[in-house]
Amino acid sequence: MIVEKINGDGSVKTEKDLLFAFSMMLPTFRGIKPVSGIEGLSSPRGFTVMDKHPQNPKDRNIFAVGVGVAIPPMGPTPVPCGVPNTDVKIESMVTATAHNIGALVRGQGPDRVGSWKAVCLADFGNGGIAFVSQPQIPPRNVNWSSSGKWGHLAKYGFEKNFLRKLRKGQSQPCYENLALKTLGIDKLKQTTHG
Ligand SMILES: Cc1cc2nc3c(=O)[nH]c(=O)nc-3n(C[C@H](O)[C@H](O)[C@H](O)COP(=O)(O)OP(=O)(O)OC[C@H]3O[C@@H](n4cnc5c(N)ncnc54)[C@H](O)[C@@H]3O)c2cc1C
Repeated sequence: MIVEKINGDGSVKTEKDLLFAFSMMLPTFRGIKPVSGIEGLSSPRGFTVMDKHPQNPKDRNIFAVGVGVAIPPMGPTPVPCGVPNTDVKIESMVTATAHNIGALVRGQGPDRVGSWKAVCLADFGNGGIAFVSQPQIPPRNVNWSSSGKWGHLAKYGFEKNFLRKLRKGQSQPCYENLALKTLGIDKLKQTTHG
């Protein structure tokens, strides 16, 4: 594999040959075809455009959540870079969306906004890392990370818990609610409605 190191203006600084065996490359993220190329609905890469509610500004019946939403870049980069998305942040978008669709059905306007907090566990085999970023996009109130064998055990426990929830059709059992509340990881930003 030939990799290029680039300068700030996007020009190639150096090239390097790397051994390519059992390697993995992540291709650029894109939205899906059914919502791509529609003026006002999708970005040039096919991500769905939404506001903070997260509702499409042009077609108010469309909400978008997850890795498929268009999040504006933090600033200019030499090559196009997306803003990372994580599951807890997405759950906060989903929570806001569910409340806001409910409000629309009741004839009110959408007023809930996801907190976009990130909690991540990465398993490295014998160990692992965890980090908390609140909110995920700076400026942040909380920046915390730690690593150790417990990281591996925590991800193992998380997977067991996650699969159990899927089997039972539960989204957030009371013990999880309590744990997130203790850590101060709420899914919604405080609004006039709490
Ligand atoms: C190894 C790994 C570890 C991670 N660890 C963490 C972590 O510790 N904490 C954290 O917060 N986040 C973590 N993430 C990120 C998190 O998993 C993702 O951000 C999250 O799952 C994205 O959710 P989503 O619903 O937007 O997309 P997905 O979970 O990818 O769901 C999209 C679904 O759409 C389906 N689909 C795709 N195309 C079509 C189509 N044309 N028609 C119908 N269905 C379609 C797919 O099959 C899929 O089921 C991790 C991700 C990975 C890969």
